[in-house]
Formats: sequence, structure tokens, C-alpha cells
Amino acid sequence: MAQKIPILSLTFEELTLQLKTQFGKGDYHAAAIMREIFLHGQSNVSHAREFIRSGNLACQIMDALEILTLPMVQQEQDDGVIKWTSRLPDGHCIESVIIPMTYHHTLCISSQVGCRMGCRFCQTGQMGFIRHLTTEEIVAQVYTAIFQQNIPIRNIVFMGMGEPLDNFDPVIKAIHVLTDPRGFDFPKKYITLSTAGHVPGIQKLSASDLKSIHLAISINAPNDTLRDQLMPINRKFPLSSLQTALADYPLKSKGILFIEYVLIKDVNDSNEHADQLANFVAPLRVRINVIPYNARPGISYKPPSSETLNRFCHRLIERKLYVRKRASKGRRVMAACGQLGSEAGAGI
Ligand code: SF4
Repeated sequence: MAQKIPILSLTFEELTLQLKTQFGKGDYHAAAIMREIFLHGQSNVSHAREFIRSGNLACQIMDALEILTLPMVQQEQDDGVIKWTSRLPDGHCIESVIIPMTYHHTLCISSQVGCRMGCRFCQTGQMGFIRHLTTEEIVAQVYTAIFQQNIPIRNIVFMGMGEPLDNFDPVIKAIHVLTDPRGFDFPKKYITLSTAGHVPGIQKLSASDLKSIHLAISINAPNDTLRDQLMPINRKFPLSSLQTALADYPLKSKGILFIEYVLIKDVNDSNEHADQLANFVAPLRVRINVIPYNARPGISYKPPSSETLNRFCHRLIERKLYVRKRASKGRRVMAACGQLGSEAGAGI
């Protein structure tokens, strides 16, 4: 039996090598396969012009090709937001979310089952860490959104379950697969990777060839005392080391870092917190997204009032910072920021 080709996990170079080894073919046919499957969603490649005179070869290759499908076990919608739970081959579940924007759709994908960062305000953090996703499982979420949900996706954000930089190699490889111009062809500028402040991961990303993707940093607490409580990763990588890693991040000439700040009533919403945040970002080129906390069961944190939200943002704007209030969509179905990983998606 022909060796299986798990196409969603392969870069162009790996696919070419596998075709060469198994069928004596090379990049001409690899490019055709990637185009048909990733761009057109066609698993039948025999009609492609590259295979028109070699139907037999097309059949053999199609026999070997394996497109990982993740069965959907639950789907919910709210505000145009679609959240679905997929079952992985080992039975664990993950969640992915499609968010309608004004002119396009953004897909939020998971990089781990659970998360070991343990952020206090985050549903996924409360699940604990179960395992990393493979490149194939990460790319399969995108394939599902485009070809099973039938939604044209423009932006991809790694803001679902998990800390993507804690699963560095599979995530980076997935981005290579997703941005290859012969396949999915997502421009790097439409991909955002969000981190809780994983300093070694940021440094590795700085040294990689993927610097032109966007980097979002979930800050949420502007001093070490509070951040140690809210985001335990801070005990390992305190704000000073995070600030240095961000200052060293090689942004393009007009590039900016996205600072995410989840505003929680009476926890991190004072003027003093706003001033500390402004001081933290002072040496950096940033846009600050202030996101009102989304309530979730079993946790005592509360969303801020709209007056508090406005006051906090205004204080940052007074410091000449570029600030955006980000409305959270999909609250009702627990698809909003920090809400992924509800019981429906929590493991086997
Ligand atoms: S906010 Fe992100 S890093 Fe923190 S626990 Fe949740 S998924 Fe993990």
C-alpha cells in the first residue's frame, strides 16, 4: 500500500520530496496538488491540467493523499460569530471561531488542547494543559472554515485555545503552510499570533523569517505584582524582560505591536493602571486594544462599566497612545476573548 501523504502537515518542499520518493515526480506536480487542495478545496486532482495526460498517476496520488477532517461535535452562533468544537483523532476537542468584521471574516484558531499558562481570567487557562496540537490539526481548522463552513477567510489569529509560542515549531510550520503562495496563499500581514508574554518564543520569532506576521501581546496587568496574580507566566518572564524582548523585536518600517488589555472591573481599571501601562509601552511602537472582560461562570471577575472603559482609554489617549476599544462579539456562546475552552470543548 502507498505511504500516506498527510497534506495539511506538509510544506511545499516536503510534499515535493515525498512525491519524488514515492512517484518519481517533483515540484511541478506538488504545486498542482497544493493549488487544487488548498486554494480550490478539490481533493480530486485528476482534472488539473498537470494530470490530464496521466490519469493513472493522479489516481495513485489521490489514494495516498490524506486530508485530515476534524468532525464537528458542536456549533453555536451569536452576533454572526460562529464557534465550533472539533474532535481530534485522539478524542480531545478544540474550539475555533469565525468572527465577521466589516469587510471580511477573521478566523480564530487554537494551538493547544488547554493551556499551561493558567491566566486567571481565561476559560482555557482553567482547563490546564492537555497537549500541543500538530501542524496538521492547526491547518485543519483553516481548511474546515474555508471548505466546510464555506466562509472566505481573510485574517487568521492565533488567539484560540493555547499559548502558540509554547508550541513553537508546529505553529511556525503551520504558518509556513498557510502562507505558501502555491497553496492557501494567506499574506503574512493577515496573520496575527497572540502571546501571553512567552519571552523565549518572542526571541525565537524575532530570529525567524516570519517577522512580518503581526504579534499581539496580552498584557492585562501593568505591574509585576498584579501580573504575577493574573498571569502566572509573569513570574517566569516579568514585565522588564518582556519589554526588552518587545523592544528588540524587528518590526518593519511602519510595523506596530498590538498590546491587548482585558479590562476587569476593580482589578486593573484605575487611572494608575492606565499610567503604568503607558509607561510600559513608552519605548515601543504599539496599538493598544482595550477589551472589556467577558464574564464567565464560576469566576468572580466582572466587566467594567462603559464609563470606566471610556475613562481608561481616554487616559491612555492623553498620553498620545493609539488606542482602540474592542467590542467582544459572541459572548452568548462563550466565543469571545478568554472564553474558549468551555465544557463542550474540554477534552474527551
Ligand atoms: S489567555 Fe491565552 S495564554 Fe492565558 S491561559 Fe488563556 S489561552 Fe493560555
